[in-house]
Amino acid sequence: MSSARDIKTAEVAVIGGGPAGLVSAIALAAAGIDTLIVAPSPPEDFRTTAFLAGSVTALTTLGAWDACRPHAAPLAAIRIIDDTRRLWRAPEVHFTAAEIGLDAFGCNIENRYLIAALHDRAARLNIPRISAPAAAVMPDHDGVTVTVADGEARVRLLIGADGQQSLCRAAAGIGSRRHTYPQTALTLNLAHTRPHHDTATEFHTETGPFTLVPLPDRRSSLVCVLDPERASRVAAMTDGELAIEIERRAHSLFGKTNVEPGRGMFPLAVETARSVAGNRIALVGEAAHVVPPIGAQGLNLGLRDAATLAEIVADARRRGLDIGSPAVLARYEMQRRADVTSRRIAIDLLNRSLLTDFLPVHGARALSLFLVDRIGPLRRALMREGVSPAASQPRLMRGEML
Ligand SMILES: Cc1cc2nc3c(=O)[nH]c(=O)nc-3n(C[C@H](O)[C@H](O)[C@H](O)COP(=O)(O)OP(=O)(O)OC[C@H]3O[C@@H](n4cnc5c(N)ncnc54)[C@H](O)[C@@H]3O)c2cc1C
Repeated sequence: MSSARDIKTAEVAVIGGGPAGLVSAIALAAAGIDTLIVAPSPPEDFRTTAFLAGSVTALTTLGAWDACRPHAAPLAAIRIIDDTRRLWRAPEVHFTAAEIGLDAFGCNIENRYLIAALHDRAARLNIPRISAPAAAVMPDHDGVTVTVADGEARVRLLIGADGQQSLCRAAAGIGSRRHTYPQTALTLNLAHTRPHHDTATEFHTETGPFTLVPLPDRRSSLVCVLDPERASRVAAMTDGELAIEIERRAHSLFGKTNVEPGRGMFPLAVETARSVAGNRIALVGEAAHVVPPIGAQGLNLGLRDAATLAEIVADARRRGLDIGSPAVLARYEMQRRADVTSRRIAIDLLNRSLLTDFLPVHGARALSLFLVDRIGPLRRALMREGVSPAASQPRLMRGEML
C-alpha cells in the first residue's frame, strides 16, 4: 500500500475499486501504462454477476479468470417465463447457447470472489493503490490533480469508476439523466434440492423480474424485483419464511430452497451520463450508465467501457499522443455511445412494459416474445447480439492483448 505522499505522479489514475475500475486499471497496467488506483476497500458484495462470453474472454486475457473459474457456473440456457396475470401473456421462451454454437452464453459468479480475483491480479501487476477515497478531483489544461486525505496525485488522464454518485463525473462537468423506478431489487443466494441444469430462469412479473441464475452445484443467485414496500416486507422475513416465499414464486421448479446469509436491497434506476468523457476524465461502469438488472447487461457494459478505453489509451500512447487529450476522449465517446444507448433503451422499454397497466403495451411485449420464440433466425440474431454486440468488439473481448 502507498500513501498519496509517496506517489506524486502517474500516467493514469483510476478512481474506484469496484469491478469496472479494477478491470480498467489491470488492462492499462498490463499494456505497460503507469497506472494508480485510488479506492477504499469496498464492503463485501454478496450479489452475483452474470458475465456474457466477451467479458469472460476479456477477464481470461487479462489473467484474472483462473481465480474466478472454481466459483463460476456456466449459463448454457436462458428461460423467460411470463408470470404476469394479464390478458396478453407471452409464451415461454427458451434460449440455448448451443443454437449459436457455444457451450455457454457466459458465467455467473459471486461479486466477492470476482473482486478478490481482481485485487489479486492488480497486486501481481504491482499497481500502486491509495486505499482512501478521492476527496477532490481538479482537471486543468495539462492534467488532473486528485486530492486524498493525506496528499495529492497528479496524472495525465483520470478514469472515473466511482459508481452512481460519481465525484469524477461532477468534476468533469458532465451532467446525467436519471429516472428512478418504483422498484427495489432484493438479492440473495440460495441452495435448492432440484438441479438448475445451467439454466438462468427469469420470471417476468407485474413488479419486475424474479430471476434465478445458476451458481456451482445446486445453488443459485436470486434477484427479486418488487415495489419498495413489498421488498422491505419480504427482506424482513425469517430464512424459513423467505424460503417458502421463494419456492412459491418459483413455482417449485427448484424444489426446496435454503436461503444463505447476505441479503441485499437495491433501489432501481436508469441513468445515463450526457457524455462518457471530458476535461481529461473518462467515465466507466455505473459512473457512466446505470440500468436495471434485466438481461445481465450492467457490468457487461462496464467491462466493454474498460476494454475499449484501455485499447484507445494504449494506441494513443504508442503513437506518442497525449492520452488525456480531447481527441483521445472524443474517440472513446464515439466508440461507446451506440452500445450504451441501445442497451439502455431496450432494457428501459422492457422494464416499463412490465410495470405499465396499458393493455396495448402488454400485447406488443407478448407479440415480440412470440416472434422471438417462433422465428429461429431472429432468435439466433438476438442471442449473438447479446453475447457479442456488433457495436462494440474491443480487442480484449476477442482474446487479444492490447
Ligand atoms: C441487483 C443487481 C444485479 C445485477 N446483476 C448483474 C449481472 O448479472 N450482470 C451484469 O453485467 N451486471 C449486473 N448488475 C450491474 C452491476 O452490479 C453494476 O454494473 C456494477 O456493480 C457496477 O460496477 P462499477 O465498478 O461501475 O461500480 P461500483 O461497483 O459501484 O464501484 C464503485 C466503487 O467506487 C468507489 N468510490 C466511490 N466514490 C469514490 C471516491 N470518491 N474515491 C474512491 N473510490 C470511490 C466505491 O466505494 C465503489 O467501490 C446488477 C446490478 C444490480 C443492482
